[in-house]
Amino acid sequence: MKRLLALLLFTTTSLFAADADVERIAGSILVHGHSMQYARELTDQFGSRLIGSSGFDRAAEWTAAQFRAAGVTSVRLEEVRISRGWTRGTASAHIVAPLQQTLHLTPFGWTSPTPPGGIRADVVPVSDLAVDSIRGRAKELEGRVVLLSIATVFRNGYFAGYKPYLAALDALKAAGARGVLVGFGNADNALGMLEATWGVDTTPPLPIAQLGMEDAKMLERLAANGRVTIDYSYDSAFTPAHTLHNVVAEIRGSERPDEWVAVGGHLDSWDVGSGAQDNGSGCAMVLESARAIAALGRPPRRSIRFILWAGEEEGFLGSQAYTQTHKAELANCIAALNADAGSGHPKGWATVGRTDVADAFRPIAKALLTDLGAADVSDSTQFVLQSDHAFFLLNGIPTLELMPDLSKYFDVHHRSADTIDKIDPHNLAGNAATLAVAAYAVADREQPIAPHASREDVMKILEKTHTDTFVKEMGWLP
Ligand SMILES: [Zn+2]
Repeated sequence: MKRLLALLLFTTTSLFAADADVERIAGSILVHGHSMQYARELTDQFGSRLIGSSGFDRAAEWTAAQFRAAGVTSVRLEEVRISRGWTRGTASAHIVAPLQQTLHLTPFGWTSPTPPGGIRADVVPVSDLAVDSIRGRAKELEGRVVLLSIATVFRNGYFAGYKPYLAALDALKAAGARGVLVGFGNADNALGMLEATWGVDTTPPLPIAQLGMEDAKMLERLAANGRVTIDYSYDSAFTPAHTLHNVVAEIRGSERPDEWVAVGGHLDSWDVGSGAQDNGSGCAMVLESARAIAALGRPPRRSIRFILWAGEEEGFLGSQAYTQTHKAELANCIAALNADAGSGHPKGWATVGRTDVADAFRPIAKALLTDLGAADVSDSTQFVLQSDHAFFLLNGIPTLELMPDLSKYFDVHHRSADTIDKIDPHNLAGNAATLAVAAYAVADREQPIAPHASREDVMKILEKTHTDTFVKEMGWLP
């Protein structure tokens, strides 16, 4: 019996960080923590943090100062060059025939403005973006504005295959279309910010703007019954090449400092609202985790690098640059934890296709995160390549995506409604404690949580999620 007890105790301490350490970390976050203060200051001091803007640059400096004030001694700003920034100006749009009505419209990011005088043209709904189909409709499309649904764009572009999407835009231009409007999915004509193309280097061949959901549906109905003419214009401008920064703060490990765990969230946001849930909340959790673990005064066995990423919204620019610059150190990266799904009630984690990581992490979560409500661990691929964990996943590194309750997240995600009043302080602190405890447990564990996945196993995850073509087209495979 005694031997069994001793064995159990040994197993417990070797699997998980010591209870007292975990209690102090979580306690310091849940009682007199700084999470809400970080989130409030970040969003209300700097507003939105579009890359290339002073808001982003000032926020990067401020977060570096917060890491230092929290007692983390190794804090660096690491450069990420972008070829150009972009700014959004004013927009106006209305139906001129067969009736008169104002429309809700704004450009997609990194698109050219409408020509001087705007665009006055009839609207043609299009649901098939195959190049042959577009060519076959050339007569009908010439001089018109093309109306797409966001579902059509996602089905044909982004993760489903990027080249066919670009080819479709070129074909629309060749057919003589004058502009593209994309109807969004949320009620009350809420507009959700997105880019027309990946990265910041490609200019779409036509002006592309988004239209509110009810407006788009009305145009579809009117077009089905005859001619519908709209008049619209928007301003936008490209800004010069710019140097962004990833903010990196490291707590060196006590036994194996060269082995490290990445704990990140993106600092940038879209230019509407103030990027409070997406991703001021994740930044606050990362800052708070660093503060609480530094305050513990007992570093984990391995190092933890707390990283606030630049340029996530334009295609993971900061995390891509970091995994390239630090390529030689990736073999020693034990795991990547990412906070970019808002701060709904704590719930758990997704391991993005890695069942072995989920199986290894589940007992840790059960032991340490149950009382925080965050012990739910799945291998969900819901956000397979949709945040900064992507380049760690592609490099075979075990990935843990923080997954709070998402039921209210998409009401504000990328919208002007994404402001600090949507963040519940209790839930934010609960998620920060969840992130900090998980980071500490993974970094302090005797053994790595799971081995690196082989290239074949990574490909299987991509194939299963139909993202393999996209990743190959983007040249993202390491
Ligand atoms: Zn985000």
